[in-house]
Amino acid sequence: MTRLARTRVVAIDGPAGSGKSTVARGVARKLDLEVLDTGAMYRAVTLLALEYGLDLADGPGIAATARTVRLELDSPPGSVALDGRDVSREIRGPAVAAAVSQVSAHPEVRTLLVDRQRRWVDVHGGGVVEGRDIGTVVFPDAPLKVFLTASPEERAKRRALDEAAADRPTDEREVEQAIARRDELDSSRATSPLRPADDAIVIDTTGRDADGVASEIVERFRATAGAEP
Ligand code: C5P
Repeated sequence: MTRLARTRVVAIDGPAGSGKSTVARGVARKLDLEVLDTGAMYRAVTLLALEYGLDLADGPGIAATARTVRLELDSPPGSVALDGRDVSREIRGPAVAAAVSQVSAHPEVRTLLVDRQRRWVDVHGGGVVEGRDIGTVVFPDAPLKVFLTASPEERAKRRALDEAAADRPTDEREVEQAIARRDELDSSRATSPLRPADDAIVIDTTGRDADGVASEIVERFRATAGAEP
């Protein structure tokens, strides 16, 4: 059961604004799978740490507190709840964005969430899993690993559009600096840094339409051994 579920995993990694979420949704629709947004899990734990006033440098303390809280994804789809409270909007706010890379660098936090990510895939019979370390650490045996990139300008533009859509109008230069800072922290940490798996296909999404990228990934997935039509 577990092994079978993991043959139905599409791992999508990449930096902020590279198109992971939109592309992952497109791939999932075409393959009739669900999406696991692992960034939302790290964001939820960060929100928890901020709300509880925890020391952000204390990985074991944050993980211990997170273990006592119910973290629910996808009921309703796309939402994130902590102990039954919908925090989908709060986890996208500036306070969480500024702290999430520090919290997610702690090995204790990662161990807890990686375990939940693997269980989610087993329960869902596979899935499109997006994050930073999915192809390298969480599902190194996934039949298809994708690493998305895009130019810094385009990534900043996409994030600024997301912010405007969420009623948080932001200056594009500021967004560019904030995501550059986050990418630097995510790429340079000791545990599970952001990087493509050796066997990942790297796709530059700059100037490309998300649906076209999703179709390309689906074709690659169908071509991999063990994939169902
Ligand atoms: O994908 P998103 O931008 O929402 O991720 C927020 C943050 O969560 C990232 O900047 C990174 O610090 C952390 N993250 C991670 N590993 C993942 C997914 C996200 O460390 N698999």
